[in-house]
Amino acid sequence: MSGQVLESLHDVVSAEHPTYIGGGTDIMPLLKNEVRDDKDFVFLKKIPELHVLEEKDGELIIGAAMTLTELAESALLNSRYAAIAQAASLTASPQIRNIATVGGNIMQDRRCIYFNQPHLWRSGLPYCFKTGGSICHQIPNSPVCRAIYYSDVATALIAYEAEVEYIEDGETHRTDLKSLIERHSVANGLACHEHLPILVTRFFVPAAEEGERSGFYKYAMRTTIDFPIINFALRCGGNRPARLAAGALAPHPVVMAETAAKIDSDATDDEVIAQAEDELRKLAMPIKEACMTPAVKRSLYRHVAMLLNLRK
Ligand SMILES: Cc1cc2nc3c(=O)[nH]c(=O)nc-3n(C[C@H](O)[C@H](O)[C@H](O)COP(=O)(O)OP(=O)(O)OC[C@H]3O[C@@H](n4cnc5c(N)ncnc54)[C@H](O)[C@@H]3O)c2cc1C
Ligand code: SF4
Repeated sequence: MSGQVLESLHDVVSAEHPTYIGGGTDIMPLLKNEVRDDKDFVFLKKIPELHVLEEKDGELIIGAAMTLTELAESALLNSRYAAIAQAASLTASPQIRNIATVGGNIMQDRRCIYFNQPHLWRSGLPYCFKTGGSICHQIPNSPVCRAIYYSDVATALIAYEAEVEYIEDGETHRTDLKSLIERHSVANGLACHEHLPILVTRFFVPAAEEGERSGFYKYAMRTTIDFPIINFALRCGGNRPARLAAGALAPHPVVMAETAAKIDSDATDDEVIAQAEDELRKLAMPIKEACMTPAVKRSLYRHVAMLLNLRK
C-alpha cells in the first residue's frame, strides 16, 4: 500500500492506477471491511485547481477538493444556491465535513446491508455482484446490483442541473452530472474493487436567476451523523421551470419532472404531494435498508411537503 500527496494536477493525472483520495471518509471504512483493496493512493487536497468556489461567466464553479464545511459555510452558496449549502451542512458529522470533499461525496460507493459489513459477516453468504459474485441477495432474480446511492450533495447539484468536468485517459470531458453518476453507479455495482478511472475536477452550475429560490430537506435516523433515508432538493421561482430531485431511493438521484410541473401549476400543496407519492412509487428501488422496510420508506415520500413553502 502506498500514498502520495501531490501538488500539481499534471502529476496527479500522470500517476499509474491511482485511487484518488479527497478526505478518505468514505473509502477508509470500505478498506477496513476488506470490500476494497486499493493500493496506490493519490491525495488531492493540495491541488490548487481543485480548490475553487466562484461565479464566473454565468456559472457557479465548485472545485472537487472543496470540503463540505467550506460549501456549508460559503456566503455565496447560502445567499444564491441555498440547497447546495444546506445539503453540505446536513451531510455526516462536523468532523467528517471538515475533511470530506465534494468530489468524494459524489464518487462515494453505493451502500447495501449485505455489502457494508466486515469480511467475516459477508463470508457466511455467497458473493453478490458488488463483491465479485453473480447474485443479488436483495432481489434474487436481478441481473445487476441494486444498491442505493446516498449522496446528499448530488441531489442538490442535480436539482440545479449541474455539469461536471473530469479527466479520463488524459483528456478533459464535461457532461451533465446525472449521466456521470449513472455511469459511476454501474461500475460501482460490479465488483468491490471496480471504479471509474476518472479524476473529477470541477462542477458547474448555471448561475442563479433573479427571484429564484432553493432548499434541501433530509430525513435520517440521527440527522447529526447518519446517511439520508430520503432527501429532496427543489429549485423554483425565477424564469426557469421548477426542478425537483430526490435521493437515497435508487442507484442514482432521481429527477421528479411530473411533480416539478405541478409545483409550477395552480395545484394545491396536497395535489403536489399526491403527485410526488405517485411519481416516487415508479422511480424508487424497493430494497431492504438498515432500520427501514420499503413500506415504511414509502410513507416518507410525502415529506416533499417540507420544501413546498418555497412555492410562495
Ligand atoms: C459515519 C459516516 C456518515 C456519513 N454520512 C453521510 C451522509 O449523511 N451523506 C452523505 O452523502 N455521505 C455520508 N457519508 C459518506 C462520506 O463521508 C461522504 O460522502 C464524504 O463526502 C466523502 O468525501 P471524501 O472526500 O472523504 O471521499 P473519499 O473517501 O476520499 O472518496 C470517496 C470515493 O470517491 C473517489 N474520489 C474522491 N475524490 C475524487 C475525485 N476528485 N475524482 C474521482 N474520484 C474521487 C475515491 O477514490 C473513493 O472511491 C458518511 C460517512 C461516514 C463514515
Ligand atoms: S444490492 Fe444486491 S448485489 Fe448489490 S450489494 Fe446489495 S446484495 Fe449485493
